[in-house]
Amino acid sequence: MVEFTVQQTCGKARASVLRTAHGEVATPVFMPCGTAGTVKGVTSAQLRETGVQMVLANAYHLMLRPGAEVVAALGGLHRMMAWDGPILTDSGGYQVFSLAQRRTVCDDGVTFQSHIDGAAVELTPEICIDVQVRLGADIIMQLDECPPGDASRQDVAAAVRRSADWAARCRKAWEDFGRLAHSGHPQALFGIQQGGVHADLRAESAKRIVALDLPGYAIGGLSVGEGHDRMVQLPADRPRYLMGVGEPRDILAAVASGVDMFDCVLPTRNARNAQAFTWTGRLRLRNAAFTRDCGPIEDGCPCYACRNFPRAAIRHYFLSEEMLGPTLVTIHNLTFFARFTAAIRQAIAAGDLPRRAEQWSAGMV
Ligand SMILES: [Zn+2]
Repeated sequence: MVEFTVQQTCGKARASVLRTAHGEVATPVFMPCGTAGTVKGVTSAQLRETGVQMVLANAYHLMLRPGAEVVAALGGLHRMMAWDGPILTDSGGYQVFSLAQRRTVCDDGVTFQSHIDGAAVELTPEICIDVQVRLGADIIMQLDECPPGDASRQDVAAAVRRSADWAARCRKAWEDFGRLAHSGHPQALFGIQQGGVHADLRAESAKRIVALDLPGYAIGGLSVGEGHDRMVQLPADRPRYLMGVGEPRDILAAVASGVDMFDCVLPTRNARNAQAFTWTGRLRLRNAAFTRDCGPIEDGCPCYACRNFPRAAIRHYFLSEEMLGPTLVTIHNLTFFARFTAAIRQAIAAGDLPRRAEQWSAGMV
């Protein structure tokens, strides 16, 4: 299971250590998305070199293809990905509600049509735990219902109650697997707070999942910058994970409110579109201004791309549709996010986060 120790605080921000069966993670941490069991375009060795500590994979995608039993037969997700560091899998809830077609939700669970081949698939809290146990990640997530951003208050309230019921059923299924394993839980189950923009519903959701005494808690259904003050309803002695947020500015705001973990497709997806993150803002490397530019993506960056390739070469690879272009910018962007979160941890330890956050935000315009 995981063990979480807060080491330093600066206001509500904390620098902590999350211990897992696959190593320690210093938080605040950013997890890149390895959606289908690979962080697109980079090997695990390259990933390790960027300073990435922990990756996220999607149970939804893996249960549909190649199937949880195939991943289990390969020795689990760590073996399949050739990644021996910590992994978190999401439950599939978010993808069911955003990607799947012809979805039917009832109190028992959700039935949907696979976006790959149209097959009917059932996902209940029990199946969701079974799938994630087979995948073998270090942290697994409860099944939750994610209503769309424009859902009525009534629908959000129903989703809060259903998600809390599902959390209790996930906990029971997770405990049963722990008993079967004899040695207790090799995996840690996180609950997910829902409630949209409604403060009272978020409070109700937090109260119900915190009552389950889970090893960690996630904040779902909140995007950029909104409602960070509401996150402190989650217990201080457990890791707090803000799902799907990755804008550096939003990470800073959420860390200041006491969040420890983040994931987002931003650094990898933008890399595939030739967009590089730097301490002074984003660069679009297809831009003609870089045609003869001999400099690295960012001066002082220790990544493989910046040590070896001028901007002009990377621009050329993108224009020629060479695979190396997305690979190099992915390596750079993941290195940037690792350095950014490391700098946040140092600022927390130095008691200097508000001043440093202001400087970074001003620089990244
Ligand atoms: Zn770099």
